[in-house]
Amino acid sequence: MTATPDAATPAIEIKGLRKSFGDNEVLKGIDITIMPGEVVCVVGPSGSGKSTLLRTVNLLEEPTHGSIHIEGVDLLDPDGDVDKVRTRIGMVFQQFNLFPHMTVLRNLTIAQEKVLGRKRSEARQVALEMLERVGLSDKVDAHPGHLSGGQQQRVAIARSLSMNPDMMLFDEPTSALDPELVGEVLAVMQDLAESGMTMMVVTHEMGFAREVGSRFIFMDDGAIVEEGEPTTVLANPREPRTQAFLSKVL
Ligand code: ADP
Ligand code: MG
Repeated sequence: MTATPDAATPAIEIKGLRKSFGDNEVLKGIDITIMPGEVVCVVGPSGSGKSTLLRTVNLLEEPTHGSIHIEGVDLLDPDGDVDKVRTRIGMVFQQFNLFPHMTVLRNLTIAQEKVLGRKRSEARQVALEMLERVGLSDKVDAHPGHLSGGQQQRVAIARSLSMNPDMMLFDEPTSALDPELVGEVLAVMQDLAESGMTMMVVTHEMGFAREVGSRFIFMDDGAIVEEGEPTTVLANPREPRTQAFLSKVL
């Protein structure tokens, strides 16, 4: 089946998602529908299943039960082209995972050439555009080891964007950074959100969730405990577990 993405088709639709590792059920029935342009912030204690949730969305983990549709396409359809769907989804991790032996430019062009089949000149053009977008045009020829953590994460975001994804998943993108470098990465993410990118962001940055998020999801023990408009949930959490968590981080 081929689906044409449009404003009425959810970017991501997760139904009854369960995931176990052996006897350990870490996702216990998750339902989330994300429309194009939404910025969904996922918050919760360590071990609550946030990373596993993101990883199942692009099938880095296979669900045990439930369904995931990306732009209307069933990710679990055995006849489906999962790799093709995956190229629609960008992912940014806590650890930047840049290739240390390649220049910034090569980090941004290699997958464009190998996965999307772009010519080197076109890949370079896209890469330069994306580096400009994250404010790193002057680092084209640098190696990642010579950049700060904040700059490396901005390169990782630019690398993801170079694949022209329809949506971006962020797993604690600023958690590995020194505090003074967090802001520059959040600013790039805010810019991206304001450009209309569909985003799912696991984060402990409550300011970002409040200012930039269109929805706030609180997870605990493999389930969604509470969700809603970020300013509302942050100011007035209904559930005791959300209250307890937020009282520690706010
Ligand atoms: P969070 O990102 O919210 O901290 P995770 O999704 O990383 O939570 O982990 C949720 C639970 O799943 C934890 O108990 C973790 O030990 C377990 N888990 C995650 N990945 C694996 C794996 N590959 N194999 C076994 N257990 C895992
Ligand atoms: Mg995690």
